[in-house]
Amino acid sequence: MKIHEYQAKEVLRRFGVVTPRGVPCFDVDQAVAAAESLGGKVWVVKAQIHAGGRGKGGGVKVAKSLDEVRDFAKQIMGMQLVTHQTGPEGQKVRRLLIEEGADIKKEYYVAALTDRATQKVALMASSEGGMDIEEVAHNTPEKIIKVFVDPLVGLTDAQAKELADGIGVPAASQAQAIDTFRKLYTCYMETDASLAEINPLILEGNGNIKALDAKFNFDSNALYRHEDIVAYRDLDEEDPAEIEASKFDLSYVSLDGNIGCLVNGAGLAMATMDVIKLYGAEPANFLDVGGGATTEKVTEAFKIMLRNPNVRGILVNIFGGIMRCDTIATGVVAAAREVHLTVPLVVRMKGTNEQLGKQILADSGLPIITADSMADAAQKIVSAVAGH
Ligand code: ADP
Ligand code: MG
Repeated sequence: MKIHEYQAKEVLRRFGVVTPRGVPCFDVDQAVAAAESLGGKVWVVKAQIHAGGRGKGGGVKVAKSLDEVRDFAKQIMGMQLVTHQTGPEGQKVRRLLIEEGADIKKEYYVAALTDRATQKVALMASSEGGMDIEEVAHNTPEKIIKVFVDPLVGLTDAQAKELADGIGVPAASQAQAIDTFRKLYTCYMETDASLAEINPLILEGNGNIKALDAKFNFDSNALYRHEDIVAYRDLDEEDPAEIEASKFDLSYVSLDGNIGCLVNGAGLAMATMDVIKLYGAEPANFLDVGGGATTEKVTEAFKIMLRNPNVRGILVNIFGGIMRCDTIATGVVAAAREVHLTVPLVVRMKGTNEQLGKQILADSGLPIITADSMADAAQKIVSAVAGH
């Protein structure tokens, strides 16, 4: 689960990380009032969307008067903000953060994340803050410093110092930087985050260290023990199809291709996507209906897949273990009727009550194409879509 920058800063502040003062706003008048209440002479108007790269896309503006705050707030609120993380259609801005302007001397990068190779939590820092870290990793990997944390020991002083030295924090500000790294690590662990990123972490003219931008991803399997974080969820930022799917306990992820996949089991779903790609096409989604899919669930799954206008065909690939093939077949037939299916449908089912399932499909009179192996199923749907 993702949250907004202003929420991420609230979380960081709870763990003692220093951030600029700021106020979240939902309209232009609130933005001006927020700037007034913050005081000072420079404010930053920041679009709040669940994507980075807002600065480059025109979603972060420095204002030097209350009139400018109003103008920028008007410009940004409601805009369709396009960044390298939103995709070409962009994301509509519905919230702003009005923040005091910081006197930036230097921008750094720091993040806590799970490193899959070492299976440890890594703290990663760079002298090249404010930029896209993927680019830094690609062009100048030597500018990224990483330390791997022993869970029993936590982030050691020596490791925190290695990070601060490695990114070139001046001596007078090192204690603050080290303190920030330790707090970031604690925050990452205690909130069950999978990513906690501060980009940029800044050195101010007066030598203070502050978090100027923040981004979190939280492990959704751990959300049951973080009510306060769940309360931050903003459904406007999520894919409507994915929200709908979660209501029916379906694991669904939208993708860019044109073949809808309905599969039981995450492993089989991944293999199905692979075999579609092997035969030259692209899946439109990942969809795992789980072990206990009912006719209603299958019907909802069809509706959700067909909301995507790019879908040109559907491949159902079921292994009947706990799930019986006749249940799926009944669900598929009912769903195809209810949604008046107009795109080709290939069904491959194996396992418990397979014959009964196939009989139900055949008796339905619907133009369902059946397949025996996965390769056969993928080839059939790919050629049906090509010819459709
Ligand atoms: P994004 O990463 O989405 O582009 P950031 O919050 O990192 O958004 O802002 C982009 C840039 O804007 C920062 O790298 C920083 O240079 C500047 N900036 C952001 N917030 C402030 C602030 N409060 N004061 C001064 N400059 C800021
Ligand atoms: Mg940033």
